Amino acid sequence: MTHRQLSPGRLVLATHNKGKLREVAALLDGHGLELVSAGELGLPEPAETETTFIGNARIKALAAAGAANLPALADDSGFSVASLEGAPGVYTADWAQLPDGTRDYAAAMAKVAALAGEHPGRLAWFSCALVLAWPDGHTEDFLGEAPGSWVWPPRGLTGFGYDPMFQPEGHAQTYGEMPADEKHAISHRARAFALFAAACLKRG
Ligand code: IMP
Repeated sequence: MTHRQLSPGRLVLATHNKGKLREVAALLDGHGLELVSAGELGLPEPAETETTFIGNARIKALAAAGAANLPALADDSGFSVASLEGAPGVYTADWAQLPDGTRDYAAAMAKVAALAGEHPGRLAWFSCALVLAWPDGHTEDFLGEAPGSWVWPPRGLTGFGYDPMFQPEGHAQTYGEMPADEKHAISHRARAFALFAAACLKRG
């Protein structure tokens, strides 16, 4: 399959989150890309109305590429439990949402564990979708997945979100117990970026 290549120049990162911008800047270093965030450009945040990670990332990437008239990269990620038919999935952040607008991940993890504990099986996974869109409407999409098990009680303090309740396959530690560089080497996000870089970034 041939993929459209991303030429050196400006690339919009369709996020309003400064932490993500820094993380992506590090991953894309050396490819001649000048990253600018949708937040910096004052672009509106579109509603994420799709039921898949790729679908929601595509909404964000196309909206940013069209509004900025530049290529744009968007991501969407979440945590899925097999016995809950993939929930919380695209609603991972929503499950942590409090009425005052803040997020409570301890409560969200407890809810997942309580529901999942009613079923046999521990299979769970993190997903990260990346969609690169151009102003002409062309898109390239990539899905990185990290399989493993949900654990309870949660373990570890180094990560964020649902990290303490996820033990990736082949590892004794949860995402929340691993040093950050170890998680970043094996994570769903790292896998998605590797697929994206191999397909769309010129080497050398
Ligand atoms: P978003 O992609 O920033 O919208 O994040 C979706 C949700 O998944 C958020 O609630 C995150 O906390 C959660 N999430 C995504 N990636 C990770 C991860 O690597 N560890 C823990 N939680 C994650």
